[in-house]
Amino acid sequence: MTKLSIEPDYSYIAENIKRVEERIARAAEKSGLGIPVNLVGVTKTIDEERISYAIKNGVSVIGENKVQEFLEKKDGIDFGDCKKHLIGHLQTNKVKKIVGQVDMIQSVDSVKLASMIGKYSAESGITTDILLQINSGNEENKFGFTADEIEERCHETAGIEGVKVCGLMCVAPICEKDSEIRNIFSNIFKKFIDIQGKNMDNIKMKYLSMGMSGDFENAILEGSNMVRVGSAIFGAREYR
Ligand SMILES: *Cc1c(COP(=O)(O)O)cnc(C)c1O
Repeated sequence: MTKLSIEPDYSYIAENIKRVEERIARAAEKSGLGIPVNLVGVTKTIDEERISYAIKNGVSVIGENKVQEFLEKKDGIDFGDCKKHLIGHLQTNKVKKIVGQVDMIQSVDSVKLASMIGKYSAESGITTDILLQINSGNEENKFGFTADEIEERCHETAGIEGVKVCGLMCVAPICEKDSEIRNIFSNIFKKFIDIQGKNMDNIKMKYLSMGMSGDFENAILEGSNMVRVGSAIFGAREYR
């Protein structure tokens, strides 16, 4: 008897990527801002095969939440030119392990963390691109700088060797109404533009990373140019 080997069918991932890209393009056009919007495929809990498939089918940046999970999976992923971002809360005792392994750390939520990333980066002779995480004001997503302090913290971070601030990142709360979430995104966009306009040394306010599967269109309408999309690409996550 011959054993049937059945190739797993991941075509739904390719279809989802296309659909998400279309939705991004439509929202970007509607926003009228005329800026390209970057898609980060969020791969937490997703296995190496599916991630490699997604990369082959158009995902050019992936985002992982946990250092340990990323390090365990990375050698099994066919990255090609795909960039790697860390998007989850980074504990200071994991900094050494992740520096040099990713192209950007989006979730920098304290000046101390930025200093540690800078220290290990400088020791390895590299500069790590970072985003400063801004707290949108809700309880559950407690990580990040407040809108009131973000400019001051940008200044402080700009002086740290080994890191380059490339923009802001936020995780918005779940809102009942579109108007509510758009208001939150809009306020963060204003801060982003504000800081951009000040042309601080060693600060390049290039990326505004906001918007996930449930809210990325609203985020784009309010000025996001980087969305982090997981479940709309890979389906609902199964946590082990
Ligand atoms: C999981 C996660 C996402 C993606 O969430 P989806 O709702 O699956 O799109 C985006 N950003 C962060 C920080 C996440 O942890």
